[in-house]
Amino acid sequence: MDNYQKIIESIYADVKNIEDSGKVANYIPELGNVSPDNFGINITTIDKKSFSIGDFDKKFSIQSISKILTLTMAYKLQGETLWERVDVEPSGNPFNSLLQLEADLGKPRNPFINAGAIVVCDVLMSHLKNPKEDFLMFCKEISNNPHLKYNNKVAQSEKITGFRNIALCNFIKSFGNIKNNIDQVLDFYFYTCSLEMSCQELSQIFLFLADDHFTTQKGDRVLSMSQAKRINAILLTCGFYDESGEFAFRVGLPGKSGVGGGIVAIHPDEYCITVWSPKLNKKGNSYKAMLFLEQFTTQTASSIF
Ligand code: GLN
Repeated sequence: MDNYQKIIESIYADVKNIEDSGKVANYIPELGNVSPDNFGINITTIDKKSFSIGDFDKKFSIQSISKILTLTMAYKLQGETLWERVDVEPSGNPFNSLLQLEADLGKPRNPFINAGAIVVCDVLMSHLKNPKEDFLMFCKEISNNPHLKYNNKVAQSEKITGFRNIALCNFIKSFGNIKNNIDQVLDFYFYTCSLEMSCQELSQIFLFLADDHFTTQKGDRVLSMSQAKRINAILLTCGFYDESGEFAFRVGLPGKSGVGGGIVAIHPDEYCITVWSPKLNKKGNSYKAMLFLEQFTTQTASSIF
């Protein structure tokens, strides 16, 4: 579509000044320092056309959006037996909930809640020599972007205050579903969440989920078509925790949010779109990013339904 630029400019102007009663996440103290007024959008099509507005090239903490990247790498390395460790069902609960784990005997409902992503990090640790370095290298390769970095301050800030994640990891370990050292698994998880990217970089890194024929610079596929389809399916049903139904209802695309205020959404065979606005609604998803995406898929008639 040629008028993406016009459409994003007009929605940006509409949504920018809407009253937002949401709050910037500050349970990770370092995230609380980000200006709530940031607002950026990028859409990148599978034929690599890119349209942007606002703070689209400022880097921010991608937080839970990294859960797609850790899952992708773990799925590649572990194959179908990954699903013996983590399920593919929506949780209908907050991202950091401990509630279902006891009844489910330590098997997290899906890889996009904290419990699931921590297990995925554990799986990766069993495969990788230097998990942090190897994971970062993987992200650089699939995006052809040498500029990706962790934010040490954010990772350390979460480490000091990550009591829930520490509890989750211990609880899962008590059921035998964490194989490695707890402190090392959590350290790796916190670093993956601290990755920083701009809207433009995020849209680019997830093109492999939008484009069936995507290959890296080296000519390698990231995932098989069937694996990419499956990740999109889990994104649609589980990408927004206990608001996944609402996101499908209003926006109608597979996607993932993070408490840094970013949302990535994927239209298979067409584009990736990323919106960043740091104020979060009560479910931990960016209020304005959701609003923007709802308008966008409505005006372009480009939801998957
Ligand atoms: N690092 C964050 C946490 O574990 C990620 C949560 C999120 O973005 N929803 O709490």
